[in-house]
Amino acid sequence: MKGATVEIEEFDAVLVGGGVMSATLATLLGELEPGWRIAVVERLDEAGLESSGAWNNAGTGHAGLCEFNYTPRRADGSVDVSRAVEIGAQFAASQVFWAHLVSTGRIGPPQDFIRPVPHLGFGRGPDGVAHLRARWEALRGHPLFADTEFSDDRAVLATWLPLMFGDRPDDGPVAVTRSRQGTDVDFGVLTRQLLAAVRSRGGDVRLGHEVTALDRVDGAWSVGVREQATGVEHRLRTPYVFVGAGGGTLPLLQKARVPEVRRYGAFPISGRFLRTANPDLVAAHRGKVYGHAAPGAPSISVPHLDHRTVDGREYLLFGPFAAFSPRFLRTGRRTDLLRAVRPGNLPVLAASARDNRSLMAYLVRQIAQTPRGRLDALRTFVPHLQADDWELVPAGQRVQVLKMSGGRGAMVGFGTEVVTSAGGSLAALLGASPGASTAAATMVDVLAAGFPDRMAQWAPRLEEIAPSAARAERPDPAELLARARAARRVLGLDGATGDRREDPA
Ligand SMILES: Cc1cc2nc3c(=O)[nH]c(=O)nc-3n(C[C@H](O)[C@H](O)[C@H](O)COP(=O)(O)OP(=O)(O)OC[C@H]3O[C@@H](n4cnc5c(N)ncnc54)[C@H](O)[C@@H]3O)c2cc1C
Repeated sequence: MKGATVEIEEFDAVLVGGGVMSATLATLLGELEPGWRIAVVERLDEAGLESSGAWNNAGTGHAGLCEFNYTPRRADGSVDVSRAVEIGAQFAASQVFWAHLVSTGRIGPPQDFIRPVPHLGFGRGPDGVAHLRARWEALRGHPLFADTEFSDDRAVLATWLPLMFGDRPDDGPVAVTRSRQGTDVDFGVLTRQLLAAVRSRGGDVRLGHEVTALDRVDGAWSVGVREQATGVEHRLRTPYVFVGAGGGTLPLLQKARVPEVRRYGAFPISGRFLRTANPDLVAAHRGKVYGHAAPGAPSISVPHLDHRTVDGREYLLFGPFAAFSPRFLRTGRRTDLLRAVRPGNLPVLAASARDNRSLMAYLVRQIAQTPRGRLDALRTFVPHLQADDWELVPAGQRVQVLKMSGGRGAMVGFGTEVVTSAGGSLAALLGASPGASTAAATMVDVLAAGFPDRMAQWAPRLEEIAPSAARAERPDPAELLARARAARRVLGLDGATGDRREDPA
């Protein structure tokens, strides 16, 4: 049977990849068009195991509550908070969407994928403290950020974060902001719950199937799929394809000769974290604490110390530390990087190497970092530590997309970019940040790009299930807060399980 082609199957939409993005899009389409035949094709035997897998990302429900990189400082010392507000609204949309699915019995239980964990910003040194204070002052008037507290009193900080401040030597000015709205999310579990819901609606979720070709035939897409276990080839015909294949997206678009990405290059950066499950340490740090990046370092390098719960067990995670692997997926091939080099993208590869010297220097420093260097970085958060408590674990691959911008080679992978082709009949997601947290809003953008004629018809339902900050009719902040609060109750994030409780001892 190996290599034999079976008959062509017809679908209304084919989604490539079984990560959180495709799972979200398939669920949205199921809500909007229950009669559509939808296929989700995933090369691995289980969904949500690449970037969306729990240990391949930090599990932060990014809502702009604590990340310095979403609130850059202007030359006059003030802070631009527009990105933090946008991400806060996008995460609220994700929460409203998940709560809708929980309350209608489509997914759950929610505590398997989302838990309340305070988000804290950590400023060090005069500049860091000034940045944090300016960030807090600029955001606290906004309803989504109104509960955020600020303190530079070490006695207070020791009650908020005993592991970091309980016995901290005097190492200069420090300050912390705390929001109890923060969350820890297992995006792998969420992905699998979403895809179970897609299946229960009659969707076709094919695990262990790799998409090998995308061809435009007679005004439709012909999707070549290989069954991994048997080698049997399938052909799916559809008017609409979404490529949410993570690191596999660009190679697939290149293979399909999608003109919009002809000049795009790609560069993989893998990550690593230090992790501990020591119960004493875990008990002394209930929070996700984000510091600021070193000068010249990219935003993905922002150090953070996170409380995580994975498969019912609690951990602390610190990082990320950048590393290099030529693979585009954790489970990819060593030849991925080489195979993505084409005559069309050689100029952008050369220009990106030329124009991103500080990033390259940062990566070289990270790759050369010793175990002692990594522990020294951790000591800026946890001054007293035992090396034996911490192990180095691999994280997911980020494939940074390279393209020309303003005559320079630019890495666009630090944002998320929706690429469309063939009149919107193909959409693809490139880039990774802020990623999974904003899946609902990002997938509404994907729908708008692919189905402009249907958006007016879909808008009322979308407004109900996933109010998107990206749409023209931006929701009123106070109304969004009320909806986010209601969603938090459904998701079990407030009250007994959540953020009203006393400070950890
Ligand atoms: C180190 C790190 C830390 C991060 N931290 C956070 C965080 O704290 N919070 C946050 O919100 N986001 C975070 N992110 C980003 C987040 O993980 C990603 O944005 C998100 O998981 C991307 O989901 P996806 O569905 O696009 O990709 P993936 O989860 O990678 O899914 C793509 C799927 O496509 C499959 N696939 C690939 N090629 C094919 C093919 N040809 N045929 C069929 N299937 C294919 C893959 O096997 C995979 O399952 C982090 C990312 C990294 C790398």
